[in-house]
Amino acid sequence: MRNLTVNGERLWASLMELAQIGATEKGGVCRLAASDLDGMARRLFIRWCEEAGCIVSIDHIGNIFARRPGRNPDLAPVMAGSHLDTQPTGGRFDGAYGVMAGLEVVRTLNDLGYETEAPVEIVAWTNEEGSRFSPAMVGSGVFAGVFDLAYGLARPDNVSGVELGAELKRIGFAGPAPVGGRPVAAYFEAHIEQGPILEAAGLPIGIVTGAQGQRWYEITVTGSRSAPIRATRSPAACSSRSISATRKMTR
Ligand SMILES: [Zn+2]
Repeated sequence: MRNLTVNGERLWASLMELAQIGATEKGGVCRLAASDLDGMARRLFIRWCEEAGCIVSIDHIGNIFARRPGRNPDLAPVMAGSHLDTQPTGGRFDGAYGVMAGLEVVRTLNDLGYETEAPVEIVAWTNEEGSRFSPAMVGSGVFAGVFDLAYGLARPDNVSGVELGAELKRIGFAGPAPVGGRPVAAYFEAHIEQGPILEAAGLPIGIVTGAQGQRWYEITVTGSRSAPIRATRSPAACSSRSISATRKMTR
Protein backbone atom coordinates (compact mmCIF):
# COMPACT_ATOMS: atom_id res chain seq x y z
CA MET A 1 0.00 0.00 0.00
CA ARG A 2 1.37 3.39 -0.94
CA ASN A 3 1.29 6.27 1.51
CA LEU A 4 -1.92 8.26 1.37
CA THR A 5 -1.82 12.04 1.72
CA VAL A 6 -4.64 14.07 3.19
CA ASN A 7 -5.85 17.34 1.73
CA GLY A 8 -4.31 19.90 4.07
CA GLU A 9 -6.17 22.85 2.58
CA ARG A 10 -9.52 21.16 3.06
CA LEU A 11 -8.64 20.25 6.64
CA TRP A 12 -7.60 23.85 7.32
CA ALA A 13 -10.79 25.22 5.75
CA SER A 14 -12.95 22.96 7.93
CA LEU A 15 -11.05 23.99 11.06
CA MET A 16 -11.51 27.67 10.21
CA GLU A 17 -15.23 27.25 9.54
CA LEU A 18 -15.70 25.33 12.79
CA ALA A 19 -13.73 28.00 14.69
CA GLN A 20 -16.34 30.61 13.73
CA ILE A 21 -18.79 28.91 16.08
CA GLY A 22 -18.04 30.59 19.39
CA ALA A 23 -15.22 32.72 17.96
CA THR A 24 -13.79 35.23 20.44
CA GLU A 25 -12.32 38.67 19.74
CA LYS A 26 -8.85 37.43 20.64
CA GLY A 27 -8.93 34.85 17.83
CA GLY A 28 -9.81 31.89 20.04
CA VAL A 29 -13.03 29.99 20.67
CA CYS A 30 -15.46 29.80 23.61
CA ARG A 31 -17.73 26.80 23.02
CA LEU A 32 -18.71 25.29 26.35
CA ALA A 33 -20.01 21.74 26.55
CA ALA A 34 -23.73 21.24 25.82
CA SER A 35 -24.25 24.96 25.13
CA ASP A 36 -26.13 26.25 22.07
CA LEU A 37 -22.76 26.83 20.39
CA ASP A 38 -21.67 23.27 21.13
CA GLY A 39 -24.94 22.13 19.54
CA MET A 40 -24.20 24.19 16.41
CA ALA A 41 -20.68 22.76 16.14
CA ARG A 42 -22.03 19.23 16.60
CA ARG A 43 -24.63 19.72 13.87
CA LEU A 44 -22.02 21.09 11.46
CA PHE A 45 -19.77 18.11 12.21
CA ILE A 46 -22.64 15.67 11.66
CA ARG A 47 -23.57 17.36 8.38
CA TRP A 48 -19.98 16.99 7.14
CA CYS A 49 -19.88 13.35 8.24
CA GLU A 50 -23.13 12.55 6.46
CA GLU A 51 -21.90 14.34 3.34
CA ALA A 52 -18.87 12.03 3.56
CA GLY A 53 -21.21 9.02 3.59
CA CYS A 54 -20.87 8.17 7.29
CA ILE A 55 -23.56 6.62 9.45
CA VAL A 56 -23.94 8.77 12.56
CA SER A 57 -25.03 7.57 15.97
CA ILE A 58 -25.29 9.46 19.25
CA ASP A 59 -25.26 7.83 22.66
CA HIS A 60 -27.04 8.75 25.91
CA ILE A 61 -24.17 10.98 27.05
CA GLY A 62 -24.04 12.78 23.69
CA ASN A 63 -20.89 11.16 22.28
CA ILE A 64 -21.09 11.21 18.47
CA PHE A 65 -19.82 8.30 16.36
CA ALA A 66 -19.62 8.63 12.57
CA ARG A 67 -18.90 5.33 10.88
CA ARG A 68 -17.45 4.74 7.43
CA PRO A 69 -18.18 1.07 6.79
CA GLY A 70 -15.38 -1.33 5.99
CA ARG A 71 -15.32 -4.50 3.93
CA ASN A 72 -15.87 -6.65 7.00
CA PRO A 73 -18.77 -5.40 9.15
CA ASP A 74 -17.88 -7.89 11.90
CA LEU A 75 -14.60 -6.13 12.66
CA ALA A 76 -14.38 -3.51 15.39
CA PRO A 77 -13.73 -0.03 14.00
CA VAL A 78 -10.51 1.92 13.98
CA MET A 79 -11.47 5.11 15.77
CA ALA A 80 -10.09 8.63 15.54
CA GLY A 81 -11.40 11.76 17.16
CA SER A 82 -11.35 14.15 20.08
CA HIS A 83 -13.77 16.81 21.36
CA LEU A 84 -15.64 19.86 20.07
CA ASP A 85 -16.13 21.68 23.39
CA THR A 86 -13.58 24.27 24.52
CA GLN A 87 -12.48 26.12 27.62
CA PRO A 88 -13.98 29.64 28.04
CA THR A 89 -10.71 30.99 26.61
CA GLY A 90 -10.02 28.06 24.30
CA GLY A 91 -8.14 28.04 21.04
CA ARG A 92 -9.23 27.06 17.55
CA PHE A 93 -7.43 23.72 17.47
CA ASP A 94 -7.70 22.02 20.86
CA GLY A 95 -10.06 19.11 20.34
CA ALA A 96 -11.41 20.40 17.04
CA TYR A 97 -8.19 19.39 15.30
CA GLY A 98 -8.52 15.77 16.42
CA VAL A 99 -12.12 15.55 15.22
CA MET A 100 -11.44 17.28 11.91
CA ALA A 101 -8.33 15.14 11.36
CA GLY A 102 -10.52 12.05 11.65
CA LEU A 103 -12.99 13.55 9.20
CA GLU A 104 -10.17 14.42 6.78
CA VAL A 105 -8.97 10.81 6.85
CA VAL A 106 -12.47 9.66 5.88
CA ARG A 107 -12.72 12.28 3.13
CA THR A 108 -9.33 11.22 1.76
CA LEU A 109 -10.33 7.54 1.74
CA ASN A 110 -13.49 8.58 -0.14
CA ASP A 111 -11.51 10.61 -2.70
CA LEU A 112 -9.37 7.59 -3.47
CA GLY A 113 -12.26 5.11 -3.42
CA TYR A 114 -10.30 3.25 -0.79
CA GLU A 115 -12.05 0.42 0.99
CA THR A 116 -10.70 -0.46 4.43
CA GLU A 117 -11.05 -3.90 5.96
CA ALA A 118 -12.43 -2.63 9.28
CA PRO A 119 -14.84 0.29 9.62
CA VAL A 120 -13.35 3.70 10.40
CA GLU A 121 -15.14 5.78 13.01
CA ILE A 122 -14.78 9.45 13.84
CA VAL A 123 -15.74 10.28 17.41
CA ALA A 124 -16.56 13.54 19.21
CA TRP A 125 -16.60 13.05 22.98
CA THR A 126 -18.94 15.06 25.21
CA ASN A 127 -17.60 17.50 27.81
CA GLU A 128 -13.92 16.74 27.52
CA GLU A 129 -12.89 20.03 29.07
CA GLY A 130 -14.91 19.94 32.28
CA SER A 131 -14.90 23.73 32.48
CA ARG A 132 -18.69 23.98 32.54
CA PHE A 133 -19.47 20.57 34.05
CA SER A 134 -16.67 19.12 36.17
CA PRO A 135 -14.90 16.77 36.06
CA ALA A 136 -13.21 16.63 32.66
CA MET A 137 -13.59 13.76 30.18
CA VAL A 138 -17.12 12.80 31.21
CA GLY A 139 -18.25 11.48 27.80
CA SER A 140 -15.21 9.29 27.24
CA GLY A 141 -15.17 8.37 30.95
CA VAL A 142 -18.69 6.96 30.85
CA PHE A 143 -17.87 5.21 27.56
CA ALA A 144 -14.83 3.59 29.18
CA GLY A 145 -16.75 2.60 32.30
CA VAL A 146 -14.78 4.89 34.60
CA PHE A 147 -17.96 6.86 35.44
CA ASP A 148 -21.57 5.67 35.73
CA LEU A 149 -23.96 7.06 33.16
CA ALA A 150 -26.21 8.47 35.90
CA TYR A 151 -23.24 10.25 37.46
CA GLY A 152 -22.26 11.74 34.08
CA LEU A 153 -25.77 12.96 33.26
CA ALA A 154 -26.16 14.53 36.71
CA ARG A 155 -23.01 16.69 36.53
CA PRO A 156 -24.18 20.22 37.40
CA ASP A 157 -23.25 23.39 35.52
CA ASN A 158 -20.64 25.13 37.68
CA VAL A 159 -22.69 28.35 37.71
CA SER A 160 -26.39 27.60 37.16
CA GLY A 161 -26.49 24.04 38.48
CA VAL A 162 -28.44 22.78 35.45
CA GLU A 163 -27.48 19.17 34.77
CA LEU A 164 -25.46 17.97 31.79
CA GLY A 165 -28.19 15.46 30.88
CA ALA A 166 -30.84 18.21 30.74
CA GLU A 167 -28.60 20.42 28.63
CA LEU A 168 -27.83 17.59 26.22
CA LYS A 169 -31.57 17.02 25.84
CA ARG A 170 -32.17 20.74 25.29
CA ILE A 171 -29.61 20.97 22.46
CA GLY A 172 -30.86 17.71 20.92
CA PHE A 173 -27.93 15.51 21.82
CA ALA A 174 -29.28 13.08 24.41
CA GLY A 175 -28.92 10.29 21.89
CA PRO A 176 -30.66 6.92 21.75
CA ALA A 177 -27.57 4.66 21.63
CA PRO A 178 -26.36 2.98 24.81
CA VAL A 179 -23.01 4.24 26.11
CA GLY A 180 -20.07 1.87 25.72
CA GLY A 181 -20.31 -1.74 24.71
CA ARG A 182 -18.82 -0.78 21.35
CA PRO A 183 -15.59 -2.64 20.80
CA VAL A 184 -12.79 -0.47 19.44
CA ALA A 185 -9.92 -2.06 17.49
CA ALA A 186 -7.61 0.95 17.83
CA TYR A 187 -7.98 4.57 18.83
CA PHE A 188 -6.00 7.53 17.49
CA GLU A 189 -6.22 11.13 18.61
CA ALA A 190 -4.40 13.95 16.85
CA HIS A 191 -3.95 16.87 19.22
CA ILE A 192 -2.09 20.16 19.20
CA GLU A 193 0.89 20.31 21.48
CA GLN A 194 0.10 21.89 24.82
CA GLY A 195 3.65 21.98 26.12
CA PRO A 196 6.84 23.59 24.81
CA ILE A 197 8.85 20.48 23.90
CA LEU A 198 8.18 19.96 20.18
CA GLU A 199 8.15 23.65 19.40
CA ALA A 200 11.46 24.17 21.20
CA ALA A 201 13.00 21.22 19.34
CA GLY A 202 11.59 22.36 15.99
CA LEU A 203 9.78 19.07 15.50
CA PRO A 204 6.55 19.04 13.48
CA ILE A 205 4.96 16.09 15.24
CA GLY A 206 5.41 13.83 18.25
CA ILE A 207 3.84 10.46 18.93
CA VAL A 208 2.80 9.71 22.49
CA THR A 209 1.14 6.68 24.01
CA GLY A 210 -0.89 8.65 26.54
CA ALA A 211 -1.82 12.15 27.58
CA GLN A 212 -2.64 14.17 30.66
CA GLY A 213 -0.17 12.31 32.86
CA GLN A 214 -0.95 14.62 35.73
CA ARG A 215 -0.86 14.05 39.45
CA TRP A 216 -2.53 16.44 41.84
CA TYR A 217 -1.39 16.77 45.41
CA GLU A 218 -2.99 18.69 48.21
CA ILE A 219 -0.39 19.75 50.71
CA THR A 220 -1.06 21.56 53.97
CA VAL A 221 1.88 23.46 55.38
CA THR A 222 1.57 24.15 59.07
CA GLY A 223 3.67 26.50 61.14
CA SER A 224 3.35 29.44 63.35
CA ARG A 225 0.82 32.03 62.28
CA SER A 226 2.73 34.81 63.91
CA ALA A 227 6.07 33.77 62.45
CA PRO A 228 7.59 36.52 60.32
CA ILE A 229 8.13 35.47 56.70
CA ARG A 230 11.89 35.09 57.25
CA ALA A 231 11.51 32.80 60.27
CA THR A 232 11.95 29.03 59.86
CA ARG A 233 8.43 28.30 61.13
CA SER A 234 6.73 30.57 58.58
CA PRO A 235 4.33 28.42 56.47
CA ALA A 236 4.36 31.04 53.69
CA ALA A 237 8.15 30.92 53.39
CA CYS A 238 8.15 27.11 53.52
CA SER A 239 5.45 26.91 50.81
CA SER A 240 7.25 29.25 48.48
CA ARG A 241 10.53 27.33 48.89
CA SER A 242 8.67 24.05 48.18
CA ILE A 243 7.04 25.46 45.04
CA SER A 244 10.37 26.71 43.72
CA ALA A 245 11.97 23.33 44.42
CA THR A 246 9.17 21.53 42.56
CA ARG A 247 9.58 23.79 39.55
CA LYS A 248 13.30 22.99 39.45
CA MET A 249 12.58 19.26 39.63
CA THR A 250 10.11 19.34 36.72
CA ARG A 251 12.22 21.49 34.42
ZN1 LIG B 1 -8.19 18.85 24.03
